[in-house]
Amino acid sequence: MLLKIALPNKGRLSEEVRELFNDAGLEVRARGERALTASLGGEFEAIFVRAQDIPEFVADGAAHAGVTGWDLVNEAGRELDHLMDLEFGRCRLVVATREESGINTPDDVRNGSRVASCFPRLTQAFFDKRGQKVTVVPVSGAAEIAPHLGIADIVVDLTSTGSTLKMNGLREVATVLESSARLVACKGNTPEAQRKLEELTLALGSVLAARGKRYLMANVPKKVLGQVREVLPGLNGPTVVDVLDGGNFVAVHAVVPSKTIYRTVNALKALGCEGILVTRIERLMA
Ligand code: AMP
Repeated sequence: MLLKIALPNKGRLSEEVRELFNDAGLEVRARGERALTASLGGEFEAIFVRAQDIPEFVADGAAHAGVTGWDLVNEAGRELDHLMDLEFGRCRLVVATREESGINTPDDVRNGSRVASCFPRLTQAFFDKRGQKVTVVPVSGAAEIAPHLGIADIVVDLTSTGSTLKMNGLREVATVLESSARLVACKGNTPEAQRKLEELTLALGSVLAARGKRYLMANVPKKVLGQVREVLPGLNGPTVVDVLDGGNFVAVHAVVPSKTIYRTVNALKALGCEGILVTRIERLMA
């Protein structure tokens, strides 16, 4: 049985999704430029749809699983199994107002205010929960221009760096939801489909786990091995291998967070280590 996985056909998430599947050994082989489906390894088939439509597609069982933004999953409000946070496409859905609006916190939003958003359900739920009566104005894009057009005083919009809001003279006053790309699945999948999706989750997870790590090898003078162990915690402690050099050196291998690699290499050099080699890791299953 070929499992159908709904992937974004364009937009911010699409490139990174393809890269992730490729890195997991599930190459997206499109049958032509504008193909609607593609083979995805031997067991999966990708179907390309708009990111917004993916929650509906998956909830209705037209695809067994899909990748889309958590914001869109919540806006759709459909029951789905959340399989995994893919960690890219990070953004926040925020309440923003014109800088000169005098609104500094959501408490300052007056009843009767008009709020423009591409996320009308989440916007309504946010203000309902706070007991504030606002009129939600649904828009299909570019909510940030609504205050300039006099359509709304307030917007609820996605932001990652904040620069689009700032460019439009808007100020963030509250976070409605934190989002990133997620792998979600249909609630009605068979046990066999669920098992395959577990394997898929493991494969994608191993790529994500490897991304923040590097594999480091170094020849270490035996007399400083104790100090090197402290510098290199590794996954389960470093691997130490004999080197055929008469017993002065050992080879040490370890998995190191990429963020600390600069400091670690300097520390190893200072301890007299030689032949230091740092490589990328394709996949990591602890
Ligand atoms: P797009 O198809 O480009 O409109 O975006 C689809 C999804 O990308 C959104 O629903 C979000 O989950 C995600 N995304 C990540 N960063 C941003 C951002 N700064 N603005 C809008 N969407 C973002």
